[in-house]
Formats: sequence, C-alpha cells, structure tokens
Amino acid sequence: MSDASSLRPICITAVEELRQRVGRARREGRKVGLVPTMGALHAGHLSLVRASRAECGFTVVTIYVNPSQFGPSEDYRRYPRTLEADLDLLAGWADLVFAPENEAVYPPGFATWVDVGSVAEPFEGEFRPTHFRGVATIVLKLFNLVGADVAYFGQKDYQQARVVQRMVEDLNVPIELRVCPIVREPDGLAMSSRNVYLNPGERRQAAVLCQGLRMAENLVAEGCRDAGEIVARVRAAIQAAPDARIDYVALADPQTLRPVSAVEGRTVLLLAVRIGATRLIDNCILEA
Ligand code: AMP
Repeated sequence: MSDASSLRPICITAVEELRQRVGRARREGRKVGLVPTMGALHAGHLSLVRASRAECGFTVVTIYVNPSQFGPSEDYRRYPRTLEADLDLLAGWADLVFAPENEAVYPPGFATWVDVGSVAEPFEGEFRPTHFRGVATIVLKLFNLVGADVAYFGQKDYQQARVVQRMVEDLNVPIELRVCPIVREPDGLAMSSRNVYLNPGERRQAAVLCQGLRMAENLVAEGCRDAGEIVARVRAAIQAAPDARIDYVALADPQTLRPVSAVEGRTVLLLAVRIGATRLIDNCILEA
C-alpha cells in the first residue's frame, strides 16, 4: 500500500548529491526538467511540475528562499516556509527536491552577480532595484548546479521570465525555457505564496487585480486601442478597492517590455498593487 509519504520525493541539501542523482538520471537517458521555486507551494507551482513531468523523465524542484532577491525592507524573514507540506504536495510528481542552505549557495567570498539590462529596469526593477540581479544570479546558479535540459517558469512573474530568457540568450546557457499559464483562484486572484498575508477583507479586495485585467481585455475586444485610456480605466477599477495602492499599471511590448502607446498586435498588461501591506503582481496578454 502506498500513501503520500511513500511517494514523496527525496529532499536533499548537498550539491554533490544533487550532481550524482541528476547524473545517474541522465545516464539512464532521462530528460531532466527543473522547476525553481521558493517553496510554500500551491497549485500554480504544481502546474509547472506537471508540465515538466509530461515532457521530462526526471523532474527536479528546487526550494530556496533566495535572500539576495529581497530588498532590505521586504519580507525575506517572514516569507512562508512550509517544507513538509511542500513535499506532500509534490508526492508522485517530482523525482527530486533540492533545498540548499544559504551557506552552500553564497559561500564566504561570493562576489559574482548577473545584471540583466533593459528588460530588468522598468516595473519590478523600478520598485525593487536589486530584485532581478538576485533572481538572475540564483537562476543561473541553479541552471549550472542542476544541468537540466528544460526549465519551467510561470507567466505569473512575466518580467522575471523575460529577464531569465534574456540571460539565457545573452550568456549562451544550454537550457530550454517554458513559460506556463497563470493558475488562479476561483475569483480570479493569481495564486501566490504571498496570498497568505492577506486578511479576509484584503483577500476579497485582491480580486480587483484580475478584474482590472478582464476589464482591459473587454476594452480591447470592443475596439479600444489607446494605452492611456486602457490604463486609466484599469487604475480606476483597482482603486475601487479601499485598501489598494497601485505601484504600476502599464502596457508594454511583450518582448522588450518597452512602453507602448497603443495595443497593436500582442501587448502585455502588467500591474503591481499593494493591498494593505501585501504586494501583489499580475498580468495578461492583450491581442488587438
Ligand atoms: P516562486 O516560488 O514565487 O518564486 O515561484 C516559482 C515559480 O512558480 C515561478 O516561475 C512563478 O512564476 C511560478 N508561479 C507562481 N505562481 C504561479 C501561478 N499562480 N501560476 C503559474 N505559475 C506560478
């Protein structure tokens, strides 16, 4: 008889063991998939793991709350850490979990950083100035440590996926990237490990992010193309929630993330909103 615990993936912390286990899978001819996460896993993460499992014979999930991608006043210390529940959720889906300690990732003397250029500068880059440097550096380290064939990211973090893609192209990193759709709660809120910070009143208000995206889709479907008008309408919809404070609502080129003045072809709508003390992001692709 098998229960969830017997199907739980092995969880390791040592780099040497990671290399050995991945090396063995590779010698067996298995394609290796990587899903980098910060843990506190939910159905959004699991969708990436399932995508890897569908394509790869060996799926590695990394769970690491990377301190270097948090700003000094951000939530690094209180970020949810739920390793046991994460391993239960991954039972039957992941082959291996790598959950390193900080000392193994950033040993004394660590001094090399990956700075991705213009796609990392606007939006999240403006509000979280050192965030993408931390993201690009840890992601490249995980790519090097795991040596996967394919890595899976969520569209939820749209700009992050663009930053990682840019880095992979610029630095000739031998890995393929897949970007998987956003998994949402029934009211449309994008699943996020940070949603647990919301109190019940804030949680109800948080649906305005997705409502703003749907409003923009409807406007475009009705023929509206003007970025200024779309942004103004989305902002007004979000501001209807009393505890919502907008960091940005913007329309941009989906590849370069440069601002656009009109929706012509594919355009990405990006938004970041604080509901009380919790900062949430969401996005959608608009097609004229
Ligand atoms: P995180 O643990 O927040 O760093 O996220 C790890 C990966 O899961 C990233 O590639 C995210 O974009 C992805 N992810 C997070 N939330 C969702 C979601 N609701 N739907 C799809 N992917 C997600």
